[in-house]
Amino acid sequence: MLKSLAGSRVLVTGASRGIGKGIAAVFAEAGCNVLITGRDEDALARTADELSGRAPDGAQVAWLAADTAEPADCRAAAEETVRRFGGIDVLCANAGVFPADALPDMTPESLQRVMATNFNGTVYSVQACLDALAASDLGRIVVTSSITGPVTGFTGWSHYGASKAAQLGFIRSAAIELAAKGITINAVLPGNIRTEGLDDLGEDYLSRMSASVPLGRLGSVSDIGYTALFLASREAGYITGQTIVVDGGQVLPESLDALGAP
Ligand code: NAP
Repeated sequence: MLKSLAGSRVLVTGASRGIGKGIAAVFAEAGCNVLITGRDEDALARTADELSGRAPDGAQVAWLAADTAEPADCRAAAEETVRRFGGIDVLCANAGVFPADALPDMTPESLQRVMATNFNGTVYSVQACLDALAASDLGRIVVTSSITGPVTGFTGWSHYGASKAAQLGFIRSAAIELAAKGITINAVLPGNIRTEGLDDLGEDYLSRMSASVPLGRLGSVSDIGYTALFLASREAGYITGQTIVVDGGQVLPESLDALGAP
């Protein structure tokens, strides 16, 4: 049994919906005080309200509109978490975008937006939380990467895959620097997780992807939330600079034939 994280102070970026919301829900249900960010104020307010209703008495869910691609917004999110809860014990750097752009059509603006949100935003969020995490007796960072880029490839997502692989290059060196401050940093690599963002890709995509997963279903946002909770736990304190693939076995088959019955 893992020791409770109740009362821990958690910042989750990109958490008005999707995986970030799922991560925030798991921490809130575990009794943590959670601050969620995103850019859409109405969506954030609705999500914070919903998650507050799922949290045990005493645990708070607050929100701040903050663009993770902007260093000043990342600092504001860290400061608001400290102002509301007295510190930061866990940062979940999750905000990300995944526009599909085939190479001939990829514009400098799209490339810039993907890298600025997914990669730069991860670095800015970590930098903004460093002092507070160093002052915490927990000091955990969990980054949401992806199987796309670090392990697999997908037409249209070469920029996205590069941004997700860049996050892993970042955590390996950051882990060494942060170890001296008692902070761990690890990454979760989700496969295809059922979120609003994934739903936008359409029914055809969703059914083809489920068929390619050995466990026979898309992942749920809580599959990622529980992995983040484990990496944030006291018991995971000797794990740093590492990655966990959470994909129902999706990266395993050598071919479609490999998925068939023996
Ligand atoms: P989603 O449903 O589109 O949700 C994305 C969340 O991030 C929203 O709350 C969005 O709110 C926020 N966001 C986007 N850009 C932002 C920015 N610049 N600053 C702050 N917040 C921002 O996406 P998702 O599927 O949950 O993906 C979340 C993370 O998981 C991403 O890092 C993605 O790469 C990763 N991932 C997802 C899957 C999957 O299957 N779904 C698989 C592998 C990895 P606003 O738009 O209001 O800002």
